[in-house]
Amino acid sequence: MADKKANNKKRNNNMDDDFNPKFRKVRKKVCVLCSDKNFELDYKNADQLKKFINDKGKILPRRATGACAKHQRAITLAVKRARHIAILPYTQD
Ligand SMILES: [Zn+2]
Repeated sequence: MADKKANNKKRNNNMDDDFNPKFRKVRKKVCVLCSDKNFELDYKNADQLKKFINDKGKILPRRATGACAKHQRAITLAVKRARHIAILPYTQD
């Protein structure tokens, strides 16, 4: 009985060695606004801005949007303007 338990523990440890999340390959995202020259960020366009907020209405971070620093600032400003004129929600439960 005790031997069987020890064997199971050993097998699980071996499985953990194969899967290491530290070495996960991540594709580098390209800024949407830099790559598409015709893309115009508009604070009156709610459908466009919805891509940059999550289901709670929060503005997505750069690691999620993939935008460059300059365009992330533009996105943030546009979302905040849209919230002020009640196009986008401040919160959502
Ligand atoms: Zn950009």
